Amino acid sequence: MLEILQVPALSDNYIYLLHEPESGQTAAVDPAAAEPVLSALAARGWRLSWVFNTHPHWDHVGANLALKQATGCQVVGFGGDSSRIPGIDRLVGEGDALELGASSCKVLEVPGHTRGHIAYWFAEANALFCGDTLFALGCGRLFEGTPEQMWNSLCKLRDLPEATRIYCAHEYTLDNARFALSLEPDYPPLLQRARQVEQQRAHNQPTVPSLLGEEKLTNPFLRADDLDFQARLKMRGERAVVVFAEIRRRKDRFR
Ligand code: ZN
Ligand code: FE
Repeated sequence: MLEILQVPALSDNYIYLLHEPESGQTAAVDPAAAEPVLSALAARGWRLSWVFNTHPHWDHVGANLALKQATGCQVVGFGGDSSRIPGIDRLVGEGDALELGASSCKVLEVPGHTRGHIAYWFAEANALFCGDTLFALGCGRLFEGTPEQMWNSLCKLRDLPEATRIYCAHEYTLDNARFALSLEPDYPPLLQRARQVEQQRAHNQPTVPSLLGEEKLTNPFLRADDLDFQARLKMRGERAVVVFAEIRRRKDRFR
């Protein structure tokens, strides 16, 4: 059984500590800051074995070196980005398997937000750590990749089992809900989810993780090929990637 601890950091980042109790191994996914990780480890008596990075942005790799120095852990990241990932020890790519004691995960390449971006999929634990690719009700900005790359990456994630929990790296859900509602103000599943998100945030609760099944139903970026949604955008029959690019452009300009 994999234990997953959600550690808030900076203004809206989530760092995840994954602990496999049998072996005692622990991994930190996308450590934006060292201090919250070190205190969470100390509070539980866990020892850090690994850092798993999804992409090279500073709010994901910022604490790599400090954590290596403090704990002697090793850093895993995408081989194609090795020059941008501080302290990288293990270079991985599509399909690679990683073991955390008795738990294992598979590396998925999901470029678009940055030209190299990976996700860590723990099939048995039904958990996906996807950094800034798929967010609850949103997706990452296209800083380095093309709409084609991002759409393909999102489709790849969309094909995972619906019960997969989506552990993304930011609490952006309330803003994402407002944008989604601007596209589809009277879509009942979205209205219902937006209300729930508002309540959670009003009580300072995390909206992450969400379930892939609810993202498929309500996340506009996963619905670029949905004909009803396309009709709503007056783009019915358009290629999905064109619709996706238009939604992403609108989000970039939103308010
Ligand atoms: Zn990023
Ligand atoms: Fe980020």
